Parts: sequence; C-alpha cells; structure tokens
Amino acid sequence: MPHAQELLNDLNAEQRRAVTHGDGPQLIVAGAGTGKTTVITKRIAWLILDRAVPVDGILALTFTEKAAGEMEERIDRLLPYGYVDLWVSTFHHFCDRLLRAHALDIGLPHDYRLLDPTAAWLLMRKHLDAFALDYYRPRGNPTKFLHALHQHFSRCKDEAVTPEDYLQYAQGLRLDADHPDLATADGGEVARLEELAHAYHVYQQLLLANHAIDFGDLLVYTLQLLRDRPAILARYRQQFQHILVDEFQDTIWAQYEIVNLLAAPANNLSVVGDDDQSVYAFRGAAMSNILHFKEDFPDAVETAITVNYRSKQEILDAAYTLIQENNPARLEVTLKLPKRLTANAGRGGAVEVLRGADSQVEAQLVADRIAALRIAGVESQDIAILVRANSQADQFLPILAARGIPAIHLASRGLYRTAPVLDILAYLQILDNVHESPAFYRVLNIPVLGFTYEELLLLSSWASRRSISLYEACRNAAEIEGIQQETLTKVTVVLERIARNAELARHAPVRDVILAFLNDADIGYLRDMTDEETVEDHERVQYLNAFWKRVEQFEDGADEPTTRNFMEIMRLEREAGETGALPMDTQAGPDAVRILTIHASKGLEFRHVFVVNMVQLRFPASNHADAIPLVDALTKVIMPDGDTHLQEERRLCYVAATRAKDGLTFTFADDYGGARARKPSRFLAELGCTVPEVSAERKAHHRAQARAAMVPRVPQHALPKKLSFTQVQDYLTCPWMYHYRHILKIPISMDGKGAISFGKTIHRTLERFFAHTLSQRSAQQTSLLGDTPPSGVAVPTLARLLELYREAWVDDWYLNATEREKASAHGMTFLRKFYAQHERDGWPTVAAVEQPFTIKFGDVSVAGSIDRVDALPSGGVALVDYKTGKRPARLDRDQKRQLFIYQIAARQSLHKEPEVLMYYYFDDKPSEQFLGSDRDLEQLEETVVGTHTSIMREEFAPDPDPQKCRRCEYQHICPFSKAKA
Ligand code: ATP
Ligand code: MG
Repeated sequence: MPHAQELLNDLNAEQRRAVTHGDGPQLIVAGAGTGKTTVITKRIAWLILDRAVPVDGILALTFTEKAAGEMEERIDRLLPYGYVDLWVSTFHHFCDRLLRAHALDIGLPHDYRLLDPTAAWLLMRKHLDAFALDYYRPRGNPTKFLHALHQHFSRCKDEAVTPEDYLQYAQGLRLDADHPDLATADGGEVARLEELAHAYHVYQQLLLANHAIDFGDLLVYTLQLLRDRPAILARYRQQFQHILVDEFQDTIWAQYEIVNLLAAPANNLSVVGDDDQSVYAFRGAAMSNILHFKEDFPDAVETAITVNYRSKQEILDAAYTLIQENNPARLEVTLKLPKRLTANAGRGGAVEVLRGADSQVEAQLVADRIAALRIAGVESQDIAILVRANSQADQFLPILAARGIPAIHLASRGLYRTAPVLDILAYLQILDNVHESPAFYRVLNIPVLGFTYEELLLLSSWASRRSISLYEACRNAAEIEGIQQETLTKVTVVLERIARNAELARHAPVRDVILAFLNDADIGYLRDMTDEETVEDHERVQYLNAFWKRVEQFEDGADEPTTRNFMEIMRLEREAGETGALPMDTQAGPDAVRILTIHASKGLEFRHVFVVNMVQLRFPASNHADAIPLVDALTKVIMPDGDTHLQEERRLCYVAATRAKDGLTFTFADDYGGARARKPSRFLAELGCTVPEVSAERKAHHRAQARAAMVPRVPQHALPKKLSFTQVQDYLTCPWMYHYRHILKIPISMDGKGAISFGKTIHRTLERFFAHTLSQRSAQQTSLLGDTPPSGVAVPTLARLLELYREAWVDDWYLNATEREKASAHGMTFLRKFYAQHERDGWPTVAAVEQPFTIKFGDVSVAGSIDRVDALPSGGVALVDYKTGKRPARLDRDQKRQLFIYQIAARQSLHKEPEVLMYYYFDDKPSEQFLGSDRDLEQLEETVVGTHTSIMREEFAPDPDPQKCRRCEYQHICPFSKAKA
C-alpha cells in the first residue's frame, strides 16, 4: 500500500504545499501544464490517505464529462483500495444527482425529464402560441428566434436571474423614467424586455407542466434547494468536508454560488485555474470568478507555480508571447501573478508553420508530417489535430484514411452525419418512399452490397436519361444496354430486401426494421463491421451503439414506435438544428491520431499538436455574439475592457499551443474555396512565427501531388464533353453537389417542386406566343435574323395568349390541388400584366426564341439556349431571359453570369452585336437591363475555363455552407452537409 508520503515524491515545493494544505480556502492560479490538475488529484488521495477523510466526504468538480472521467481515472490509480462513492463529476451531473434525491423538497416531480436544448426547442415550437411573441415573431418565419430565446433563458439561468427578477427589472424601467438604462431605451425597448420576461416565465411554466427541466434549471433549482432547505444544506455541508474545483476560470456564477454555499462555514475549498485558459466567456465566465473568489476569501492561501512539466521551452515561449497581446486584461498584469513559465524538460521543442496552396494540400502536408512522426516512433494517440470548429475535421479525415493513417474524430455532436447512421436513415427513407433517389443511391453505395462505381454510374445515368427514379431503373435493369449478369444479381437482392422490409416497416417497431437491415445475412452490414477490428470499424460500431440508444429513447417515449413516426422525429430534430449526440470516448481507438476541437482539448496533452486552418475568420473566428444579449444590469459578470471576443480567441490559441509537449505545428492554406483570398491568422505573427513563402512552382507541384493522392477516380466517359451553363453554376455552388448531380447523375424527386413546372409552362407559353409573330414574319422575309426589323407585325390577342397558356400548362409535381390552382391563377395575372405592359410600351421585334448555341473557349465547349432574341433598329440585338422565381434584391456579377454567356454566344454563333441584356421578372418590376463589359466577359471566360479544368482534374471537394446546403437536393445523403448547422 503506498504511503501518503509517496504521493508527494515528485512534487515541487509549491505543489507539495498545495496538496498538503490544511483547512480553509486556497486558490491556485497558474499557467498551463504546471500541475494544477495533478495537485487536485493528489490532494484528494492525500486527504483520504493521510487525513483519513472518507472517500464520499470529498466533492471534486470539474468542467466536462471527459475531464471528470480523466480525473476519476487518475485518482483511481492513486488510491490503493477500492472505494464506494467518489463524488468526482461535472457540475451538471452533481446537480442532477442532488435534485433526483430531493426533487420533491422543492416541488419538482421526482422523475423529471432532463431536456437537452433540442428537446427544449421542440417543446417551445409545439407551444409557440403560448409565448405571445410579437417583437420576436417575424411573420414569415415565426420560429426564427426560438433558439435565440432559449439561449437567452439559459444565460439568465447561468446568472441565476429568475423570470420574476427579469419582469421586475423591466417594469422598474417602465415606472422609473429617470432610470439611467432608459437614456438609450425608448418605450419599445421596455416592451421588448417585458416580452422577454413574459416569454421566460411561460417557458418555465411549460417545462413544469411537462415534468421537465433543462440544463440551466439544474443549477437554478440546486441553488434554490440549498437556499430554501437549510436542513438539506446542513446535511451536505457535513458530508463534504473538502471541496475542490478544477478549471475554476470556466465556472459560471451560479456554479460558484453553489460551491460557496456548500463550502461554508469551514470553507475547505481549493480551486485551481488559469485566467489565460478561460474559453467559455460567452457563458459568463472569463476571469470574473477568480476576482470574486479573492474578494470573498481575502484570507485564502494563494499559490503560483511557474514550472511547466509538459512542454519544451520553445513552445512555452511562443504561447507566452501570444498571450501578452491580451494585456492588460490579464491577472499577470492586474494582480501581478507570475505567468512566465519555465520548462522542466528544457529546450529542444519545435514550433513551425506549414503553408498549403489549398485545403487538400494543407491536409497532405499534415499527413506527411504525421507519417514521419510515426516512423520516428511517436505513437498515433500522442498526436492531435486541433480544429477551431468540428466541420474542419472533414478536410483531414479522408486524406489521412487514404494514407493509411488511423485517425479518430472526437466530437460530441454529429451522430446523424456519420456513415452508418446516414446509411440507416437512407434505408428507412426508401422503405417509406422507394422513389427517393438520393437515399436509394446512398443505400446502393453501401460497400457490402458490392456495387462498383461503374455499375452505380450505369444505373443512375440510365435513370436520369429516362427521367425515372433510381428504383425504377433497378426494376427494369435488365433492359439496360451492356448491363452484366453480376450487376443484375446484386440489384435483385436489394430489391427483394426492400420489398420485404417495406412490408415490415408498415407495422413493426422501427427497431425491428433497423435490426432486419443490420443483421440481414445477405447484406452482412453488421458482420462486415465486426469481423476485423480496425480503427474505422471500432468507430462505426460506436456510432451504431449511440444511434441505437437514440432509437431506444424514441421507443420509450412514443405511443407508436413506427418507422414513419421515427422519421418524423428525425425530421423535427433536424429542423431544430440537432445533429445527434456522440459519446466522446478519449480512450477509443487507442492506436489513432485524435482530431478534436480546441475547446475539447482543454486539460489534455499530446507529444505533437497540429493547429490547423490558421487563417483570419477561421481562427480567430468571426464573432457570433448572443442573438439576444442579456442587459448589463442583470449580469454579475465582471467584463474586462477591450475586444473581448478577440481576447477569448487568443486564449483558445494559448490553450491549443500549450497542449503540445515536443512539437507544435500550425498549418493553413491560401485557398479554402470561394472567391475570398485567405489571410494568415494574426496569431501566427503574435506567436512570433514566420509565415513561409511558397513559390508558384512549388504550389503547383503540391497541388498535383495532392490530387494524385485522392480517390476515387472518375471514369473518363463520365466526365462531361460539353458544359452547360447549369453545370458551371452547380460546380461553382458546390463541387461535391456537382459530382452527385452531373457525374453520378442521381435523379432527384420532383415531388412538391411545382415551381419548376410553373417555370416550364411560362417558357412554353411565351415561346409559342412569339413563334407566332415569327412565322408571320418569315412569310414576309427570308432570314430569321433579318437585317431590318419589319414593322406592323400583328401581335396575337390577349385571349390567344391565355389560350396558349392553358395549352402549355404542365400539371406535374404540385404539392396539392390548392398549390396548383394558386399557381395557375398567378400565371394568368402575370401574363395579363405582361401583355398590358407591352401594349403600353410597345412590342419587341422578336428575331428568335429558344435559340440554341454552342460557344468555345479554346477546347472548352459550352452549350445552352437563349429564351428570346430581339432585333433592334440599330441592327444589334437584345437578349432576354425569363425568370419566374423571386427577383433578387440586387443583381451581382454571379447572377449576371448567365446573360454574359448569352452575350458571347450572340457574338460568336449568331454574329450579332448584343446591345442590351435583360432578365424579365414576372413579379413586380419586370426587367433588369445591363450589358457585360470586356472585363466582365473576360472574367466569365476565366471562370468557365477554370471550372472545366477543375472538373477534368476531378476536383470535387465539398464546399458546404448552411444556406446552400439547405437548398441542396442531396443534403440527406451528404456527409458534409451543413444544412443543420
Ligand atoms: P492545464 O493548465 O493544461 O490544465 P495543469 O496545470 O492541470 O495543465 P497537469 O495536467 O496537472 O497540469 O500536468 C501537466 C503534466 O505535467 C502532466 O503530464 C503531469 O503528470 C506532469 N506533472 C505535473 N507535476 C509534475 C511534477 N512535479 N513532476 C513531474 N511531472 C509533473
Ligand atoms: Mg488541468
């Protein structure tokens, strides 16, 4: 059995003093890696072994589940014997435990449901009308502010502001006309605050009525319990003889209050923290609580430690230079706390910056370095890639995989975007509707089904050529020219399974349907995942387990746990922005490089750390302040001066840098897609790093290498011979979406897309209408594009126009009869207006309608057709394109692109000089006229040629963005989608 003294062997004098500190409060503020967490853990062991404090007499609180787990493990290693009840947990867990035991004492149901933010959002949405919102309920989008409201209420709870406090404040403002806050506030402002106070009250009532509490309530009710029930407080005061808090800088006010209440009157309270590592200031933290602590406990023993046991000196120096930029908003300045760290390990560390031409090259550079480190004997789990946002991991995972480097993304959300879950959801979706082609494609693409890329291409392009769903193509696959018997066999297996399981899905619980899919011996989905233990398989099994938990949770609460109801819940969750909770298992996949956010890396250490995407606006990230901020009068936080957002980002960078023991590599790319040129992060200079220059040749060489390393290779015949304008546009929107639509040719469902039918109808109507005037004229004249526009061509009557409209009507794809009728009436109004306007302003002399063309830029061909060409008296032409969609607020160059192509086409293939380009909108103001300058046309050519080159090089890197993804047909099968961000 280890003697208590052995615990102290390796410690330095300050650490030892802190570990063996007797009674009363103590505060340790010290820089990264100085052994703060070590002190807390060893102190717990010391209290138990030396001071004979019972194990459950110690309460240790920390910030994340992960940190709590790690600490428990460290203590477990230190304690020689088994123990029953270790109170080492997060604040949330601790509060939940207390409230479950004493719910009834403060009028809470003992079996309350703990709602996560998504569940809370769904509850609010269901009872939207109860909130009586006005200011926060835009007519077009009534649920727009629900997230912001919920976040606002959470902020209130963090600061222990009750609905009553809030209302009192708002009403006080109304009564007190001289109130200083009213100097800037008008009557509307008071009404807004009252609306918030009222909504907050309603929200709390809703929770209670539904036997629910949310995360913020855990703190509020715990405080209430301890304040209002002295007997209960006394009991816990007696139990917890010592309280210890790690990462104290990140506690919020309400948490600090709880600790204070429990610690009094003995105040055997040890807190450790580092103001430079406070990274949850948006939750009200910053260095505020350290200052509060010093005020509340002026006699506290204070300890500073400046020896760092983690990193080499070079790394510490870089981090220190950086964090100095936050002066004077640092305790080193305001309280003269020493923060310059000395490395116990001495010198010999490496700090470097790598620069890639684009994001793929950046990822390859990181992969190169990791490969070299592994060869040099560094274990994979000692290497971490730290990202500012989880989505940035997507850039690295496929490239590491292609290079055979095991890597694991440790994220706490994003379950619904993982491959096995996307597979299952796609499968459930086609059981409901087999014609959902993107989902059908996803299922066919499941590796165990064994379809080759060529086979999938064959099926999907046949479907898209015939405008049928992929399912229909599979049913008639025998008719496809050149299809192999082998393919047909695979298709038969899939169709047979779907038919059988669709039947099952109609009545069986969703779990049975999912199990039927997973365990199907012919498909072998689960078998494939478990027959050999690779890092990827391990990860996929974890995802399945997590998803299975979600399914069980659904079944617990559902009256009818059918597939359809489950899919409805999934739809609602996605609408709420939920991406699915993931277990954050740091022990997972022992032999794998870790990819995680900087926030999640707090308290951890690795031999080598890569901090990636070091460009402005990514890191430091742009500022997303609270959508509805809490007024200063209601907050207890002491806010520092200066640019608090930038300071917080800088502290994050400090945390990232100080995770590294031996090597610290910052990387960035000059190009992350999009038009914006990227600037290296200002932090690189602040860290004292030199940003390397890379010659143009080297860049080109790197790009070529990165491309060559990418899979899959698209068969040459699948690449387009000619580009259409839509293809160019789609590629520019997102290369990965282009790949789905134009390479794989996954058909999309047109259900509900009445707008497309409507557009077709209008185009057909006007084509026929003007063709009329054309045919009249060609009787008089020989050439269609004649030199002198003839006058006096009779225009068909309005009645004729409307008749043509009815004949041209495309009836498909409307959601329902109402939508169809609405559209039909709309069209009538449009055309009447169109006719009247031309009667008033004069009719054009139409030279051609639906004029096809092909233009060439070098060897690149672009094909298209122009809605209408009007002959002008000057001999030139006007080019017209009809738009039945909404008119954009402003036409920018991207939106003008289509007509610029026509402008070139008129010159190149019609040999006519365009004088005017015009979009004709059928909503309020019809036309928008302009003409491309030489520069515009040159740029267009560059864009088209550039797009073509990229397509031929098979550059289909995704360019996700929430707005675009929400409009994308493939969002439900795309692992990169940000539709739910
Ligand atoms: P952070 O600020 O990142 O939370 P920390 O101050 O909590 O860091 P620890 O994680 O406790 O620091 O310690 C950093 C590393 O230094 C750990 O690997 C720990 O085992 C080691 N360490 C701490 N104190 C000593 C010591 N006296 N001798 C040797 N190693 C030590
Ligand atoms: Mg620590």
